Order: sequence, then C-alpha cells, then structure tokens
Amino acid sequence: MSLSKEQALKQYFGYDSFRPQQAEIIDTVLRGDDCLVLMPTGGGKSICYQLPAILNDGLTIVVSPLIALMKDQVEALRVNGVKAAYLNSSLSRSEEDSVLWQVKLGELKLLYIAPERLFSGGTFDLLREWNVRLFAIDESHCISSWGHDFRPEYRQLTVLKTRFPQVPVVALTATADRVTRRDIMKQLGISHAPTFESGFDRPNLSLTVLPGQKRLQQIKDFLARHDGQPGIIYCLSRKGTETLAASLQGAGYAAEYYHAGLPSERRSRVQEQFLKDDIQIIVATIAFGMGIDKSNVRWVIHYNLPSNVESFYQEIGRAGRDGEPADTVLFYSYSDIVTRQDMIGKSEQSEEQKQLLYAKLNRMKQYAEADMCRRRILLSYFNEEVVQDCGNCDVCRNPRTRFDGTVIAQKALSAIARTKESVAMGMLIDILRGSRNRNVLQHGYDRLPTFGVGHDLRGEEWGEYLGQLLNSGVMDIAYDEAHAFKLNPLSRKVLRGEHAVELVKFIPLAERKAREEAL
Ligand code: ADP
Ligand code: ZN
Repeated sequence: MSLSKEQALKQYFGYDSFRPQQAEIIDTVLRGDDCLVLMPTGGGKSICYQLPAILNDGLTIVVSPLIALMKDQVEALRVNGVKAAYLNSSLSRSEEDSVLWQVKLGELKLLYIAPERLFSGGTFDLLREWNVRLFAIDESHCISSWGHDFRPEYRQLTVLKTRFPQVPVVALTATADRVTRRDIMKQLGISHAPTFESGFDRPNLSLTVLPGQKRLQQIKDFLARHDGQPGIIYCLSRKGTETLAASLQGAGYAAEYYHAGLPSERRSRVQEQFLKDDIQIIVATIAFGMGIDKSNVRWVIHYNLPSNVESFYQEIGRAGRDGEPADTVLFYSYSDIVTRQDMIGKSEQSEEQKQLLYAKLNRMKQYAEADMCRRRILLSYFNEEVVQDCGNCDVCRNPRTRFDGTVIAQKALSAIARTKESVAMGMLIDILRGSRNRNVLQHGYDRLPTFGVGHDLRGEEWGEYLGQLLNSGVMDIAYDEAHAFKLNPLSRKVLRGEHAVELVKFIPLAERKAREEAL
C-alpha cells in the first residue's frame, strides 16, 4: 500500500504537518511538473524534494555544490530509514563503485552529487540507464551570473531539460533577487514553471546597524547583555577571526575561530562544540554556517560589511531559527565600503561582473545607511512588500531627526576646494577640526582659511556627515586617487548657496547604546 505524503512526513521525518507551501510544492513535483522554490535558510526546502523522492519509484538526483554538507544530509536521511548516498571527490574508488552499484540495482531513493562530478567520468551518460524521476537543484542561484555565488560548473545543468525533457526539475534557493530568479529558470529551461515563495520575513530577528568604531568594546557590551547566549560573529578575513577570537578568549569568553584555512578535523570539532553549547561564540568567515542546523543561535554580529544583501540575509538568518527573538548587529563605517570596493577592483573578474558586484555592494551600503525601516528595505530587495514599519529595527526604535546641513556641507566642500581636491577622509577631517598633526603641517594646510572651521563637530560626526554628503551626491570620491574627495556641479551649487543640503542627525555611540540597552 502506498503512503500518503502526510503519512510519509510523519514516518520519515517525525512531523505532523507541513509548513506553508511545502505541501503544494510536493504535489507539484509528484505531478511531474517543474518549479522554483524560494525559501529562506531554515525554511524547510529539503523536504520539498526528499519527500517526493521517497514516494516516487525511481531515483532523485540532488545537485548540490556543498560537498561538506552532503555527508550530513545523507546520514540524516539514512537514520530516518531513507536509502540515500552521495558521489563526490571525498569518496575512495571502492566507495564510489559501491554507490554506483546501489544505483544500478535501483536500491537508492536519493543520490546527492556535485555538479562537477555529474559531468565527469561518464556519470552523465549513466543517467540514461538509471530510473531518474526527479532532478533537485539545490543552491540553484549558483547557475546565474546575476546571483551572488555564480559557479561556472552549474552552467552545465542547462542540458538537463534538453536531454531529459520528461524528468521534472525542482530548483531551490534561499536567496535570489528578481533578475536572478528569472535567470535561474531560463538557464534550467523551466521559464514557465510556477514559483513558490514562502515569506522571507523573519520578524523575530531584530536588525541593528552600529557605527563601526570601537567594535571590540561594543561587542563586549553586547555580550554583557546576551549572557551565555550562543552566537556568531562574521569577519571579513581569516586573520580577523583569529585576532577577535583571541581578544574574546582573553576577556573570558568561550569563543573559537573558524575559517576555511583550518584542517577539516578542527573545523568539525569547533562545529560540534558549538552545536553542543560547549562554545558560546564562533568568530568566523563566511565559510561557517552552511547547513549548520542549530536552532537556538540567539544573535549574529557582522564585524565587517558583507558584500551583498543576499549573503547578509542568509547569514543573519542563522539566528533564531527556533522562532524565538534573536538579535543581529551590523557594524558599518565608510572604510568598510572602501575595502570592499578595493577588493572588487583588484579581483580577477570581467569588467561586467565587477559592475554587478559594485551594484550589489551599493545595495548593501544603502541598507547600512538607511534612515527608513531596515526590514522594509531588506524585504523589498527580495520582492516582498511590507506595508508597515517593523518596530524591530534600530531605525524604527530611534527615528531619525533631520536638519539643515548646508553650512556643514559648505565647510567641507570649501576645504576640498582649498586642498585642490587632493585629500581623503582622514586628512579632510583633521583640516576641518584644526588638528595640528605632522601631516597637516607638512602640507601647510594649517595656513588654509578653512583650517579649523569645523572644530565644533567631533571627528566621528564629521565622518558620518561626509558619508551622508557622498551618498546624496553633493560630492564625489576618486577611488583611483587614494580616495580623494572631488567636487562636482552639485558641490558648486551648494557652495554658491543655490542648493540646500539636508542631513540626518548624528547620534553619538554612547547615546545609541543607551537606547538599545533600554530595550
Ligand atoms: P533549508 O534547506 O530550507 O535551509 P531545511 O530543509 O534544512 O531548511 O529545514 C530546516 C529545519 O526545519 C530542519 O530541522 C527540518 O527538519 C525542519 N523542518 C522542515 N519541514 C518541517 C515541518 N513541516 N515541520 C517541522 N519541522 C520542519
Ligand atoms: Zn523597522
């Protein structure tokens, strides 16, 4: 007697009911139709193809780029009594042969495979001999060069539909903006298939952006308010994770670093300890988190600015998977943008690809600098509209005050003009504040009429306002000239008093902190 999908859900996964969309997706796939599934990390994508795989007679091929995860997924399925295996470069020859035998004998329900493995060693030709009933393409945004994680080996999957037109394809992803979605479907040859999208909103995650100064101290303050709660700190560089973890250990925290440069035994050990709550804090590069099923992560901090909104959302999505409140913090300063821009500029990408990366970075910057509800910005990025402010982000909690900043802008712009558009942020602030440091004196900038005209504002205030002036197009920056500020036609209008400038009031760190603590 064949099982219903509800019975199979209970028997193989132990769950009583489907989450929104899962049942519809499974029906679609069982009917033999293609579809695209968009669900946030932790939303429950796997069941959408695992359950049809169990109910189908025949084999489901799961394409995944994450070799490290295949083993875990397959083991979890086996524990639940599902016959599954994987093929990837970690297997020995004889292990591979044994998997291939199982497939040949029709003993397997699911075969996980990395795309490069699928298209090598004659595997793809073998597919014809196997009773393949479904292709599940996990992390399907990897097929699109518009996505944030393009992998050329995924491109070969375009042949699936032409070679196996009768086998349904289910494409899954946690993060894809509109353009990427359309491209995934086009590449896979399923342009007319339905898209299932479950809500991306995670209202239990609080969103906070803090100025990127004294980050270590701010983290310690944050930790004092999150006593003993497990969390993740994402850093840009491997070295950065090591330094920060050492500082936190020095301050008495159970913290460990994690990055792709560590031996795999060590990485597994750290993961394991974090899962078991033996370690409170993981300080990691983006290498950490893929497929980590820890539901009680209570907070995520981004020590550095992520390169795009997709990655950011995926990373903060690792907090609060149990639905309980969780806090996320992004540290942001203008220098983070500069670092990221430099990285893109120096990378070995095509010019077209670079432009895309700059554009994606720019969206991230807009999020960090937003003075409207951050959740609305995030969700609109994923094509979801929120009609109301969320009440659970720092902007909602501390509405911004605006004021006429024309005079401030004029001071900055005239200093830029007096220094012949040759100075960058640090020097400009020194000149405005009248700091007599060696560099300033060496250039004779202390003799400029604008020297010290901005002494009434603190350095960090200037930093904030100069960032805002850049964003509003009142001045430019030359990335190819050591980030020197430049004047543009709008700058000249402002200088002549023909254009007023509105700024958002700077809130000192201590005050923001006090407000956050009052939560
Ligand atoms: P994703 O691949 O979308 O990140 P997973 O498929 O790993 O998410 O699912 C995340 C978690 O949710 C897993 O622990 C999974 O067992 C659980 N889950 C999935 N579907 C259900 C359901 N219908 N009821 C309860 N838990 C579920
Ligand atoms: Zn909000």
